[in-house]
Amino acid sequence: MKILVINAGSSSLKYQLYNMNDESVLAKGLVERIGMDSSILTHKPAGKQEVSEVSEILEHITAIRKVLSMLTHEEHGVIASIEEIQAVGHRVVHGGEAFKASALVDDAAKAEIRRLFDLAPLHNPASMMGIKAAETNMPNVPQVVVFDTAFHQTMPEKSYLYAIPRVLYNKYKVRRYGAHGTSHEYVSQAAATFLDKPIEELKIITCHIGNGASVTAVQGGQSVDTSMGMTPLEGLMMGTRSGDLDPAIVPYVMNKEELSVSEVNSMLNKHSGLLAISGVSSDMREITEGMDKGEANATLAFEMYEYRLRKYIGSYAAAMNGVDVLVFTAGVGENSVVLRQKVLEQLTFLGVKLDAELNAIRSGEPRRISAPDSRVEVLVIPTNEELVIARDTHNIVTAANQQ
Ligand code: ADP
Repeated sequence: MKILVINAGSSSLKYQLYNMNDESVLAKGLVERIGMDSSILTHKPAGKQEVSEVSEILEHITAIRKVLSMLTHEEHGVIASIEEIQAVGHRVVHGGEAFKASALVDDAAKAEIRRLFDLAPLHNPASMMGIKAAETNMPNVPQVVVFDTAFHQTMPEKSYLYAIPRVLYNKYKVRRYGAHGTSHEYVSQAAATFLDKPIEELKIITCHIGNGASVTAVQGGQSVDTSMGMTPLEGLMMGTRSGDLDPAIVPYVMNKEELSVSEVNSMLNKHSGLLAISGVSSDMREITEGMDKGEANATLAFEMYEYRLRKYIGSYAAAMNGVDVLVFTAGVGENSVVLRQKVLEQLTFLGVKLDAELNAIRSGEPRRISAPDSRVEVLVIPTNEELVIARDTHNIVTAANQQ
């Protein structure tokens, strides 16, 4: 079965075409600047040259049409006809409490995703545009939605409720939902497979550290707590997001600086984190370079980032009364040798013992970086959210076909 995986943003659309017979990626690419002049389609067919095409793409419907014609293109294509695509899997950021797992797209699912616009105003409308665009271009092909929040729906009330008046949960569903669930699920399962141990017996802490970053406590294969909250702002310090802060700072600063709701939102989401403290960049590579040159602000930004991550790991070890496995993934987690080293050097109280040589190895494969006598297994596992979407889509569509 060939499956097209789509990740639609408000002005972008990422895609990957999978052959599920061997889970290989036939092609992947990205449409940027949708709705602006000079939209760019970048297409990478497996084993062939990458191509870019600039044109005017005003809507997601056109973007998918362009992608489909690229996938079937005489020279750059990888399939003979779009009929070969048997299902489409969509990444959707927010599934609220309604979606505890991936689901087939039908009228009820679409209505529910629309109801959730309120909780994810920047993301869910874009996902819906992707779904509509795929339906328009491939009307008879089944579509599946895979949610960033679904994996965290196993959290108990004590983890997901905030200590604020209960009426806010009852009326507006104000609670912790978490994010990056597809990634935390993938790497926790991959960790159990790598260690050849049943996931039911493991206490795993997964650190998804990219531009956005979150930590999850996975006990017996289920998310029991996660650092992102009702929105992806809570928790760790991130590239441009503040992470945890005293909530009283918000009204205080709004009052002093006469900021509007959208201005304060923008300050905390786009102008905080590594960028704010370093004063130069949200990118961990540049922060590390600055630190190597002895720049004080870059060093402070790194130290705050590392310290806050380490505190979360410690608190999740306490939440689960122990930890067997610690996993690093995503851009920073997979690539920053120094961040992993600094975090792990100060987790010796948990029985963590780093192997510095293994930590310095770079490879795109799952690997162990802890010493043989470390009480906690520490792994680096490249995440693959698209593969999870393709697998879920495959399973759901296969099951539906059998009914
Ligand atoms: P996103 O959250 O956008 O999916 P990624 O998981 O791709 O992000 O992570 C992007 C981040 O990974 C970059 O901002 C950069 O800071 C970090 N990164 C990538 N390569 C390295 C590296 N070699 N060393 C340190 N950080 C890196």
